[in-house]
Amino acid sequence: MGVNYTLSKKPLVEVIDVRPVHHGSCHCGSVTFSVKLPNGLVDPRRCNCSMCRRRGAIVASVPLRDLEVVEGQNVLSIYQFNTRTAKHYFCSRCGIYTHHQRRSDPTLYAFNIACLEGVDPFVLAKVPVYDGEDHPSDQNDR
Ligand SMILES: [Zn+2]
Repeated sequence: MGVNYTLSKKPLVEVIDVRPVHHGSCHCGSVTFSVKLPNGLVDPRRCNCSMCRRRGAIVASVPLRDLEVVEGQNVLSIYQFNTRTAKHYFCSRCGIYTHHQRRSDPTLYAFNIACLEGVDPFVLAKVPVYDGEDHPSDQNDR
């Protein structure tokens, strides 16, 4: 009856090991990027704002200069809403969210850790959820 799914048996970890410069991509491979992560994945989190709760990605943050789109800049689309401060980038071919310039701190990009080579975000034992729902700029976007 139906499909026999098997639950992932990967052990949970507190910290995901990454390289000092780690490469990532969207699903179709049109967009590739590199992030400098000398201190590993900083502050991996989810957020419950109107955008993030639909997207569901676990993100970590880097200063703007530490994320470079290597290929596919022309394929990236930008989605903006509400205050239009944050810039949410996604691949226009496969739809995968890669990164965004944060609203709460526009000097930072948050990026989708699931896009990183070899990283399975579901092994993270604890992922805090940030209360983006009560961001003052979201008052009209409930
Ligand atoms: Zn893509």
